[in-house]
Amino acid sequence: MSESQDTIEQRGLMLVLSSPSGAGKTTISRQLLERDKGIEMSISATSRKPRPGEVDGEDYIFVSSESFAEMRDRDAFLEWALVFDNFYGTPKKPVEQALASGRDVLFDIDWQGAEKLSATSRQDLVTIFLLPPSVEALAERLKSRAQDTAEVVARRMAGAANEIQHWDDYDYVIVNNDIEQSVEDVRAILSAERLKRTRRTGLEEFVRKLQRNL
Ligand code: 5GP
Repeated sequence: MSESQDTIEQRGLMLVLSSPSGAGKTTISRQLLERDKGIEMSISATSRKPRPGEVDGEDYIFVSSESFAEMRDRDAFLEWALVFDNFYGTPKKPVEQALASGRDVLFDIDWQGAEKLSATSRQDLVTIFLLPPSVEALAERLKSRAQDTAEVVARRMAGAANEIQHWDDYDYVIVNNDIEQSVEDVRAILSAERLKRTRRTGLEEFVRKLQRNL
């Protein structure tokens, strides 16, 4: 039987996409998930209240602060952080299962989460930071979202300055001038990273077989 690129056993990778809110991260994530069936979203748990239209179990697992603390204490999170007064955490089990079965996982988490994953899972991790093309574009997107109050928008603008400070901790940086181009850039990164020798756990056996038959 001949083996191709696709049938060689592979360990999944963790793709982290961070940006200040309003830079287009959610749209890009959705498009990526639609176009690439080999990657799934990590659904975070949060103590924040759902925004209109957000679905429990799809956008987030919405929990009380008490439940969040209980999950944290029994070590159910791969990482967790306090962002804008709310707790956010990445449930450990689904990620570990996906990676072991060769599936990739996409994370929409902030710089604190990226930093923590970098400390524990560097070899599985690929990090991308998304920048808005301008301050005006960021302000416009936050306002047009209209799901948050003016006070929340003002705080998120201030938070953007803090988040952007961490741009140079990331492996890749994309300036989101154009959603379509940004999605394709993320896909190009993903394609190349999937080919990394170290993630291709079946390669050794594949090469040994080739050598035996030479
Ligand atoms: P939002 O409330 O707008 O959905 O998210 C606020 C911020 O929290 C975003 O920057 C998002 O990336 C981050 N975030 C969401 N889930 C997690 C998580 O599980 N861990 C960490 N560290 N950050 C998260």
